[in-house]
Amino acid sequence: MGQEAWTPDSWRSKPIKQDVVYDDPKELDAVVGRVANLPPLVSSPEIDQLRAKLKDVAEGRAFLLQGGDCAESFDYCNPAAIEDKLKILLQMSLVLIWGMRLPIVRIARMAGQYAKPRSSPYETVNGEKILSYRGDNVNSIDPTQRRPDPQRLLSAYFHSASTINYVRLLLASGFADIHKPEAWDLGHVRNPEIRHEYQSIVNRLTDALGFMGVIGATSTQESALNTVDLYTSHEALLLEYEQALTRPMPKPLDEPETSGRKRPYEPSTPPRKTLAPELCDWYNLSAHFIWIGDRTRQLDGAHVEYFRGVKNPVGVKVGPTMEADELVRVLDILDPDFEPGRVTLITRYGAGKIGDFLPAHIRAVQETRHKPVWCCDPCHGNTTTAPSGHKTRSFDAIIGEITASIATHRELGSRLSGVHLELTGEHVTECTGGSQELSHSDLASNYQTFCDPRLNYEQSLDIAFKIAKVYAD
Ligand code: PEP
Ligand code: MN
Repeated sequence: MGQEAWTPDSWRSKPIKQDVVYDDPKELDAVVGRVANLPPLVSSPEIDQLRAKLKDVAEGRAFLLQGGDCAESFDYCNPAAIEDKLKILLQMSLVLIWGMRLPIVRIARMAGQYAKPRSSPYETVNGEKILSYRGDNVNSIDPTQRRPDPQRLLSAYFHSASTINYVRLLLASGFADIHKPEAWDLGHVRNPEIRHEYQSIVNRLTDALGFMGVIGATSTQESALNTVDLYTSHEALLLEYEQALTRPMPKPLDEPETSGRKRPYEPSTPPRKTLAPELCDWYNLSAHFIWIGDRTRQLDGAHVEYFRGVKNPVGVKVGPTMEADELVRVLDILDPDFEPGRVTLITRYGAGKIGDFLPAHIRAVQETRHKPVWCCDPCHGNTTTAPSGHKTRSFDAIIGEITASIATHRELGSRLSGVHLELTGEHVTECTGGSQELSHSDLASNYQTFCDPRLNYEQSLDIAFKIAKVYAD
């Protein structure tokens, strides 16, 4: 394509959307310089392992479950919130393994999902026009503290580090004790028939035998659950921060096997700067997987430029404004080597619009050599405002977009290979519907999100049961 050379800062010469303007650029430089000297949060062999797994997903041998908060807050860096999120993601993945008889690749929107794109730089609070909340790594949800503060980037790094440390600790110490029936609270399911149906799935799950082979366990349940992998992800929006954690790492000696064999981590001494550039690849070591939002995916823009140079698997949000030929050009830029699973297309049209856009997008990609992971985000196209003024989403619209996505892919000889959900393991009331049958009037009782409404614990489990059933039937 005759592209110019990529460098970790080549994005700086391109037009940028959703940029944050700081009062004191020198303070920003000092903070970013400090982040650039801090240790990585994830390793390049882990990233390679995820690349191998996403290749499996793209080729139909595994399914992707990606989920977490819309905007992670620094306050969510506490043991209970992290445990709850891990529990719901692991329980959902077990239900999906049961339904699909496929391994599930789990990616959390966690340990760095702090920056938010906004539709307007300003909002009105109590009649006063103030800067919008841009995520905890930029400013505060407190209306009196909206000035972008560069020190928050450093704080984001340390909150990410603390979160990922606790996730690793929990997984390494066998936290995943979710095969015990008492870990599955189904008391919330109001409809007795549905409760009976869920219970019978859980019973079969806890029986374990049918799915243990699929998740690689040969002996005890413990051994299977101890091998659980969970990868981290966020929208890579603040490119100064992302650049500071973008590091040259020795190329893998061979391409990772699909089994995802682990390689040792290469220490930083002797300094990698002395390694010949052709022996290195650039990795974003802030997370395993990063994605570009629907608002920042311009072909000639800074974000696409940054993303094309990193070795991590990357996501692109695809909404109704994406033209089919534009989608192909994004893939050409981000996936010049036609690596299956290098790009995950996270489609988010809305239940009422998916039929107008997805078929053309699938057909356009089928005419190329690209093999992306097709993943459905049924949340972002289905956001509405309740009469009470709460931003909400209906469970039925969410399920409607997922089932329409599965059906459309099937009809066209393609395959939906993942779902991307905004969820929390807590008992919030932000979305309506589901087996608790939450209504608009229930929203106020425990509405907590700072940004988009999330599926709660029960609604998230509902989604997993519903998807599992579509595949199992
Ligand atoms: C998000 O995932 O929170 C988000 C802002 O999504 P999108 O870019 O699809 O609007
Ligand atoms: Mn969101």
